[in-house]
Amino acid sequence: MPGPRKAIEVRDFPSPDLEPGAVLLETVASEVCGTDVHLHHGRLAGVPFPIIPGHVSVGKVAAANGIHVDALGTPLAEGDLATFYDVHETCGQCFYCLVAKQPNRCPSRRVYGITYSAEDGLLGGWAEQIYLKPGVKILKLAEGLTADEVIGGGCGLFTGFAAVDRADIAMGDTVVVQGTGPVGLATAAFAGLRGAGAVVVIGAPAARLEMAMTFGADAALSIERCPPHERDAAVRERTAGRGADVVIEATGNPAAVPEGLRLLRDGGTYVIAGHYTDVGTATVNFHTDVNRKHADIRGQWGTEFRHVARALTLLARHRDRLPFASVIGGRYGLTDAGRALADVEALRVTKAVIMPNGNGEGA
Ligand SMILES: [Zn+2]
Ligand SMILES: [Zn+2]
Repeated sequence: MPGPRKAIEVRDFPSPDLEPGAVLLETVASEVCGTDVHLHHGRLAGVPFPIIPGHVSVGKVAAANGIHVDALGTPLAEGDLATFYDVHETCGQCFYCLVAKQPNRCPSRRVYGITYSAEDGLLGGWAEQIYLKPGVKILKLAEGLTADEVIGGGCGLFTGFAAVDRADIAMGDTVVVQGTGPVGLATAAFAGLRGAGAVVVIGAPAARLEMAMTFGADAALSIERCPPHERDAAVRERTAGRGADVVIEATGNPAAVPEGLRLLRDGGTYVIAGHYTDVGTATVNFHTDVNRKHADIRGQWGTEFRHVARALTLLARHRDRLPFASVIGGRYGLTDAGRALADVEALRVTKAVIMPNGNGEGA
């Protein structure tokens, strides 16, 4: 990606030499997520273009220099399927790492596919090989888990897990999920696994609402066909008029926030997980919807390694309840990466996957 709004180019790079502690992956699949669309529009600050996009990826271990186990101690050998935590180089020594326990705010934090220039090396997934620097947290895929199941969820799988974790759902809670993209789908499924009494999903288009039902939603409300007062009535009907115990926002649309607060019962918890980039503001009545309501409002920005590790454990255990392979709507080779971005932006596919080493046959 040479720069904002510039056409994607395919460039040749030398195959890297591995420093001690480094691992080389032969890329099997890398995702195209909403963040890549935002990157291409220049909506993230400080991105060192040109970059190799692709922050969540699955690959086969092609070579390793002195690494024989993954981040959790599982033996790792050439040919094994693995993924890795895209965030690394958090320092463990600053105020945010040590005192506030918020490594996402560590100033040393770097992210594959976003904060590295292509000149720094093969540090993004839209490439035939990915260079995993020493210290990158690698996770071998559990026996039987496929690349499709992981990459069909992509970073949405991990963000959805993080949002549910942040919401602290109690068993039996009625949970509303706003949004039916990969984050919303993962949130709905993990809310169910966490023990929600009912999960109501709000979103569009119709195909994604149907998909939400296969991820364990009990009801799916269309923002296209069902006006706000009907959505409100549907949630209150399930909760004796109180509203939802927990609402989780996964839309990236500011207009969802006032509605989410209105759908919340008094004393409920609202988690905002979809506003990863700056998409603008919304107007909220703080008296009725926050203060008097005693609302607990929490933000969840990105993920930590523990979310990735635990989400993959649950994915391996509950493959039937997290059917992410079915979310993949298009497979693209490197030369079609521009088309993949356009298809994601136009919502033509829920999850587009880049397959740099073949089997990318287009949408
Ligand atoms: Zn730090
Ligand atoms: Zn992403």
